[in-house]
Order: sequence, then structure tokens, then C-alpha cells
Amino acid sequence: MTDFTMQTGPDGVAVITWDVPAKSMNVMSTAGFALLSDLVDQALADPSVKGIVITSGKKDFAGGMDLNVIAQMRAGGAQAIFDGVMTMHKVLRKIELAGMDPKTKKGGKPIAAALPGTALGIGLELPLSTHRIFAAENPKAKIGLPEIMVGIFPGAGGTTRLARKMGAMMAAPFLLEGKLSDPKAAKSAGLIDEVVPADELLARAKDWVLNAKDADLVKPWDDKGYKMPGGAPYHPAGFMTFVGANAMVMGKTMGVYPAARALLAAVYEGALVPFDAALRIEARHFTSVLMNPSSSAMIRSLFINKEALEKGANRPRVADQAVKKVGIIGAGMMGAGIAYVSANAGIEVVLIDNSQEAADRGRAHSEGLLDKGMKRGKVTPEKKAEVLGRITATTDYAALAGADLIVEAVFEDVGVKAEVTKKVLAATGPDTIFATNTSTLPITQLAKASDKPAQFIGIHFFSPVDKMNLVEIIKGRETGEVAVAKALDFVRQIRKTPIVVNDARFFYANRCIIPYINEGIRMVAEGVEPVLVENAAKLVGMPLGPLQLVDETSIDLGVKIAKATKAAMGADYPDGAVDDVLFWMADQGRLGRKSNAGFYAYSDKGERLALWEGLEAKYPQDKMQPSLTDVQHRLLFAQVLEAVRALEEGVLTDIREGDVGAILGWGFAPWSGGPFSWLDIIGAARAVEICRGLTAQFGPRFHAPALLREMAEKGETFYGRFGGEKRAA
Ligand code: NAD
Repeated sequence: MTDFTMQTGPDGVAVITWDVPAKSMNVMSTAGFALLSDLVDQALADPSVKGIVITSGKKDFAGGMDLNVIAQMRAGGAQAIFDGVMTMHKVLRKIELAGMDPKTKKGGKPIAAALPGTALGIGLELPLSTHRIFAAENPKAKIGLPEIMVGIFPGAGGTTRLARKMGAMMAAPFLLEGKLSDPKAAKSAGLIDEVVPADELLARAKDWVLNAKDADLVKPWDDKGYKMPGGAPYHPAGFMTFVGANAMVMGKTMGVYPAARALLAAVYEGALVPFDAALRIEARHFTSVLMNPSSSAMIRSLFINKEALEKGANRPRVADQAVKKVGIIGAGMMGAGIAYVSANAGIEVVLIDNSQEAADRGRAHSEGLLDKGMKRGKVTPEKKAEVLGRITATTDYAALAGADLIVEAVFEDVGVKAEVTKKVLAATGPDTIFATNTSTLPITQLAKASDKPAQFIGIHFFSPVDKMNLVEIIKGRETGEVAVAKALDFVRQIRKTPIVVNDARFFYANRCIIPYINEGIRMVAEGVEPVLVENAAKLVGMPLGPLQLVDETSIDLGVKIAKATKAAMGADYPDGAVDDVLFWMADQGRLGRKSNAGFYAYSDKGERLALWEGLEAKYPQDKMQPSLTDVQHRLLFAQVLEAVRALEEGVLTDIREGDVGAILGWGFAPWSGGPFSWLDIIGAARAVEICRGLTAQFGPRFHAPALLREMAEKGETFYGRFGGEKRAA
């Protein structure tokens, strides 16, 4: 084990270097922690050592805890987690107290942290236990505690130390939102102490160590008379902070994220007791969060599996297909967005539309986004010129020569798309891959316009393209491996997360989201209060209620999709009750946000005000309203049963994609880890039982798929049966 090594120079400063072998980023393991502890013991005991600097042998300091450690701790149960966390607290507390006399607070050895780059999670919690944190001037470095983003919270003292260092109010963005900062911003926020030129990092940290006084080593909370900045809970100002914070957290999380609640409790309760007791309180809350299935599901989907998909877990084994030149046809909302993310990733872009004016408008979208970035100080004028310089806006298909990928984003019309496909084929080489961004038309059908269906594929972006991180890659019946690899490599270049699915009506994401919207609208038609529908959705962790969602995506688009689906399905079409409402709304000219009128009322300025009162006159509300849970079950099962059917039918071939895609694509209750994780949390048997009740009351759309029934009988879970590398049959 050589994760940490120590060298003491003639100046008497012991430099402990963190450098995990065979990894590009340091992560903390149990054995690593034990080694660090031993080295600190040695340095503190060695009379020739005057102080310690902890630094990294890599360009960054550390990326966080090895998630396998967390998995191992969880496997051992609550006591193992608590004991493991308390061991970490002891080591970090030893660093903090640095061998000083507990009464006089004298005689300790100064310990500094020197961060060459990124320092996340335990990579910041460890420095927070030292006496001074130095960071190299490195605008690319990210410093912070992002644990909350994956369903846990900083559990190695970060929560307690940051709250005491900054006060609950100032620490809130870092703890509750996982805000990351570059070194300069981290210094001005008080997260770290000094930003120094990279080549002086070690020297400056050593210098501080050699000149530090006893008083420099005593943390404010170990000093007599310590008062929490901004006030502890029973201080008038602190009282206001905690009341406000509680309301804010509940408002933002609707109480469904156990980590946010536990974090807040750890800060509140911790603030009322001495520091060491606060650490024990933090450890208890951390243990409870790790024992909650939501946290393991979130870590699995949002960290482990998301990363695996981004690294190409389902990429065919063919040579690198990185895109050099992409041709984008259709410079509308989607095409313009795709042009921006491509050019931003260093890819040469040809953006084509029917008229030069439309093509230029598409390019101007990138200019607008870059200008916004400049205003926020994120984009330099050089970068703006560089990115815009990569986009050629034209009507001339000859400019596509040499493009290795085409992304078509013209009108959603088979005829228009076929015509464009033919024009592209005439202008490009034999190896060019053709992708369509269609959201509803079957890829296999669109591929008929090409004489090279193996090179035809769906690359489905979500709107707005620059913000939405999921990209759904759809294989037509004849799509070949190179096309899949090309699409995946493209998605990797533009730093988004891909899922690969087979061709079927609405692919995966829209297939699940449409029933969610429809179920909400159906309830309105039945006389359920719209506000109950919307709040039930939000209280179960959906970012938007179904009625707000259809307002955002537009009601006329819903009408268009409904008509096309009905035409395709004929007598089997099940959503007549939904269409009554949708078509009536469209007839009233209430098309959603874009017309400032939809299920919601909007101000002249476009602010969403409240649910539209006129809805009740047309759809009177029942005196007897259903329970919150019943409404939530309807909304959730409308989605998850579609996900299970997609798996059963082979549209999805990997449940990891089903879970990650659901959270990133349409915000499916992230606390659950996704639809398959949620079904695993409640259990297949319970899910089947709920389906039985819903089917009896509301009809066969809630009938449990055979796969779910079989799993219920056998007592199986999705991740047990299909998890990891195992695939659906
Ligand atoms: P849009 O109407 O904003 O843009 C379409 C553009 O294509 C227009 O600029 C139009 O001038 C251009 N165009 C039409 N015919 C053309 C032709 N023959 N040659 C060149 N350019 C032509 O539409 P959009 O919202 O950007 O959607 C484009 C595609 O992306 C559609 O297939 C749509 O289903 C799909 N899509 C849309 C969304 C969304 O949220 N809007 C999401 C995913 C996928």
C-alpha cells in the first residue's frame, strides 16, 4: 500500500504525498486512511519533525471517497458504517489537534494542506481538518463537497467543520447544493485560506508550517467562547437561519431526499453541542442515510452507472469513431443547439437550412449562448471567436464534403426527412454516418430513404440541447455497429450521457413520459383537482407536475402526437379521454407556455401564476377526492410500467440505461435511482399488488407486465436479475 508516502526534508517539514498507484485521480480507501493515520502518528512522534504538509503527487488533490468503501461499509450494516465513520473522525481530529496539550492548546505541530488542483468530498474534508489550506492558482480546479448530488452528505466531518467555520447560512450552498468553486472563489467564500502560484505551492505551505504560532493551530471551535458565525439555533439570528433553511430544503426537496434532511439535522443538532459530540451526531445521521435504499440507488444510478455509460459500457468494440466534422441539417431550435454543443467540443460544424437567413439564425443561437457565458465570466472573447469560427451556416449541401457525421433536425415529417436524406447522401462520402434527431418517427422507416441503412441511426437530443445531458441513441433494424460507435463517440465528445435503445414507438424516454402526462390529464377529466395532481407529482420527487410539463412542451404538440398515434394504432388507441381535454384546450387557444395560456394561467410577462380557473367549469371537481398516495401511484406506475414493458420488449437492453435515462431525460424522481431501482425498493410483489388495485379501478393500462409478475413470484429484483453486466434476455 503506497497511497500515501512521507518524506522529511532538512527543514524538518514532513511532506505526506497522496498518490494512488495506477489511478489518474486520488480516491480514499480504508487502507489508505489507515496508512495516512500511521504516517501522521510517526510525524507527530518524531522530534525532528516540525510540521507536516499534506499534498498530492498528481495534478489534482483528490476526487473523493472510493465508492467501493461505501458499498463495503453498507454491507456490514449500521454498526459497521458508524464504526467506520468514527474511525475517520478520529484520524481527522488527530490531525486537527496535532498533538497539542489539550489544556494549554500549546505544543502542536502545524499541518497544512497543499492542493495542486481539484479537491472534492473527502479531498476537501481532509484539508478542512488541517490548520491552513493552500491551493494552486488553477482555474480548472474544482473545490467542494458534492456528496449531496448523489444522495449522501459530507460524512467525514465536512458538514460539522464547514457549518462551524462559515455559519449555517454561508455553508448552505456548499453543503445543501454541492456547489463547487474554483480556487479563487473558494478563497473568497472562506472554504480555503490561500491561493498561490502553482510552482510555489509546496514552498509556501512549508513556509507557513515553519512560521506558524501555537494560536494558529487552534480552530475557532476549540477555543473558549466559540460562537457559530451567524448564530446557533437558539440565537435570534441563528433561529431565523434554521427556520428559513428548513423551509427552503423542504420546498426544494419536498422531503423525499433523506440526505438533505439528515444533513440539516446534523448541522442543527451539532450546533447545540461541543465539537466532538457534533461529530458523533454527524456520524449517526450519515449512517442512517447510508442505510436508506435511496442513497445506494442514487449512487448507483447517478454516479457508478452514469459514468459506466459515459465510458462506453455498451459501445461495440470497433475503432475510435471520434467526429471531426459534423453536418447539421435544420437550424431550428434543435439543430442550432446541436451545432452549439458540437462546436463547443471542438468539432467543425456545417449548419444547413432552407434559407441563408434561417441558417444564420441558427448560428446566432451559439453567439447568444457564448455572449451569456462571457457575461458570467465563463467564456473569453478568444473562446467565443474560436467556437463561432467552427460553425459554417449555409444552404449549400456541397459544404458537407468531408463530414463524417450528419445530424438531421428538420421538420418532423417523413417526406421532408426523406428528401433531405437523399440530398445529404448525394453530397457526402461512402462512410458518412447519417443520424436523425426525430422524436417520434420510427428509425427503421426513415432509414428506407437511405441506400445505406447500416449507416443510419437515431440520435435523439432533449431540449434545450445545451442544458439536457441525456442523449438517446436509437438503433434501427439494420443499423450497424460502426454507426452505434460513431453516435456514442460523438456523445462522449460533447460530454453528455448516452443510452442505446432499439427502435419502437417513442423509443424509451417519450414512451414513458407521455403516459405520465396523459395520466395527469385523465385525472382532470375524471374530476380530480388539478392542484392535487400537480402537488402529488412534486411531492413524490417529479420536477414538474404533468400539467406543467405539457404546458412547457406545448399542448398543440400533444395534439399532434395524439393524432399520429391514433392514426397508427387505430381501434387499439387507449387515450380518447385524454384527447377530449387536450383537444378542447387547443380549441380554446390554450397551447401552453408559448401562448401564455394553458393548464396554468400566465402573466403578460410569461410568469406562471396558478392553475387556470376555467378548467373547473368544464371539468367539475368531485367532492370526494382520491388520496395523495393513490394519485402518486397512478402517476408513477404510468411511467414505470412503460419502462418495464420497454425492457420486456427489448427496446431497453440494460436496466442501467433505463434508470439513468429516466432521471436525466425527464427527471424521474431522482431520489429513487430511477424506475427499476424504485421497483426494487418497493419490491416486485408489492408492485404487482398495487397494479392489481389500479387495474381494478382504472383499467388494463395498469396491468402488471409478465416479467414483473414472474419476478414477484420468484422474489427477484431487477438489479439482482439484470444488474451489473448482466443484460435482459
Ligand atoms: P424547428 O421547427 O425549430 O426547426 C426545424 C428547422 O428545419 C427549421 O429551421 C426549418 O427551416 C428547417 N427545415 C425544414 N425543412 C428543411 C429542409 N428541407 N432542409 C433544410 N432545413 C429544413 O424544429 P425543432 O424543434 O428543432 O425539431 C427538429 C427535429 O428535432 C424534429 O424532428 C423534432 O421532432 C426533433 N426533436 C424536437 C425536440 C423538441 O423539443 N423540439 C426534441 C427532440 C427532437
